[in-house]
Amino acid sequence: MKIDIHVHSSERSSCGRSSEEEIIRSAIVHGLDAIVFTDHNEFIPDDRLIELNEKYRPFKIFKGIEVSVPKEHVLVIGLDDTSLESEDWTYEDLHKFVRDNSAYMAIAHPFRYRDYINADLNIYPPDAIETHSANTTKDTRPSIYEMIQKHDLKEICTSDAHHVDRVGIFYNELNYPARDERELTEILKAGEYTCKAMQDRVDKINEDIEAIEERINVLHGQGKSVNEIREIIGIHKSRIESILEGVSYKI
Ligand SMILES: [Zn+2]
Ligand SMILES: [Zn+2]
Repeated sequence: MKIDIHVHSSERSSCGRSSEEEIIRSAIVHGLDAIVFTDHNEFIPDDRLIELNEKYRPFKIFKGIEVSVPKEHVLVIGLDDTSLESEDWTYEDLHKFVRDNSAYMAIAHPFRYRDYINADLNIYPPDAIETHSANTTKDTRPSIYEMIQKHDLKEICTSDAHHVDRVGIFYNELNYPARDERELTEILKAGEYTCKAMQDRVDKINEDIEAIEERINVLHGQGKSVNEIREIIGIHKSRIESILEGVSYKI
């Protein structure tokens, strides 16, 4: 079963740019068998989940959540509790709650904005850390693998798609199919899966990123200010500044 366990929808994520059904159709077109909606601090409603599963069967749609804790995002699957729909969790309390309920948790896009993970993984190890996603850059991967080795964690590959063009670029292939969130949780916790990439899509994304990064450097070389470059390229100022310092956003 090919599954992308980290996707967003415009219905619940303000940063989501594609609707639930657009995301599902994209997943089907790209050959996935299932996705997990993990919107920020909000679950997909049960009646909607049932409706979508009936409409798109045999494709499977599961319920998860991406919980914001200080300086980190944590994917939680297998714990259907509305108390997770809050931005007040600390990583430590969330860890206890997930463990008490034998659920699954993974740290999303580590090292995205800082050079450390804001959690003591010795005491509070998650089940996995995301090594590949649309928001996990190649440059951060050595640090992520170092953490995985140090704390004996599993890696997961997801898209973190907020738009149809990213759905399934990275995914996990489960060794056997999951029928519900409980089975999915057990398979993920047991590491019964392989991380996969749709490499031709990833290569195309990286070509586009490289072209933008080159253009920014060329404009800078022509004496354009960061604000002027932002007007021309249309991406965030802090990102332009990082690129000019040599950071790459290739995934
Ligand atoms: Zn996130
Ligand atoms: Zn996300």
